[in-house]
Amino acid sequence: MFDLEEDRVKAEIARLGARRVFVQLPEGLKPAAPRIASVIEEAGALAIISADPCYGACDLAVHEAEILSADLIIHYGHSGMPGLEIGVPILYVEARANVSVRDAVEDALKHLEPWDNIGLAATVQHVHALNEAREILEGAGKRVYVGHVAGLKYHGQVLGCDYRNAKAISDLVEAFLLIGGGLFHALGLFLATMKPTIVADPFEGKARRVDDEANRVINRRWMDISEAMGARRWGVITGLKTGQTNLESSLRIKGDLEAAEKEVVLLAMREVTPEALMEFPSIEAYVNTACPRISLYESRKFPRPLLTPREVYVALGKMRWEDYLRLGML
Ligand code: SF4
Repeated sequence: MFDLEEDRVKAEIARLGARRVFVQLPEGLKPAAPRIASVIEEAGALAIISADPCYGACDLAVHEAEILSADLIIHYGHSGMPGLEIGVPILYVEARANVSVRDAVEDALKHLEPWDNIGLAATVQHVHALNEAREILEGAGKRVYVGHVAGLKYHGQVLGCDYRNAKAISDLVEAFLLIGGGLFHALGLFLATMKPTIVADPFEGKARRVDDEANRVINRRWMDISEAMGARRWGVITGLKTGQTNLESSLRIKGDLEAAEKEVVLLAMREVTPEALMEFPSIEAYVNTACPRISLYESRKFPRPLLTPREVYVALGKMRWEDYLRLGML
């Protein structure tokens, strides 16, 4: 179902003369670990598979690879983020899906009926299918827009926390169609643009609107922000994953909270989990400058409000809720 690019993996191992390879896989690809390990060992290198979670290219296991003396990291399922290549060579294998998008996009047409101008986007697994999706939509009389900004590798590509390609065309379109499996990126697209969003899932061959789920997230964000408004002691979290470390942002927020007469504790962590935060019972609200996914989609699991950096300013009365929604949550 996914292209593991076995020939390119072997060629890169040979080109670098790699002897020990550390492999990172997102959860959906972990079942392929034994196959990937045997491909690497056929190429003459030792394969070590990371069993830790890996949610994005932000989470490059450079430190872990150094501990294991690996001379190559193979990172599956994501495209590279600029500026993160540090030390150990990294091979990105995007794991493109070998599945037709036709049924899912045709199924999306009934949801897209009210609109003429459609923004098209995809996760990296399906960006190669955007042209086929465009043809189907244009064949149904739609005007199709696909955005592209500097810093994102592919036209129309979205990441869990980067919807700039979609935002660049948001004023031109009435609704978005996202090609991708699951709801995660479609929800993010809605929250980034506040436009009706349909997800066409090529694995299921079906499409659906995500507005109800997105509105539930928005309501939950308002509840968390409202609760945080009364907090006196705050924790400001800095992520320790390679592409999630925003210490400057944490320090700026600390200063702004202190200027509003709040007490602030700086925390640093790799995995932001409810269990970890439960160890700090006197902290009444948190700001998470690491992955925004955790605040937006998982905050229900946390015992205290866990705000994104922008939401702090709503809680402090320095940004209006309406302006936050207008700018987009991502
Ligand atoms: S920061 Fe979060 S949403 Fe962004 S790429 Fe990493 S895991 Fe995905």
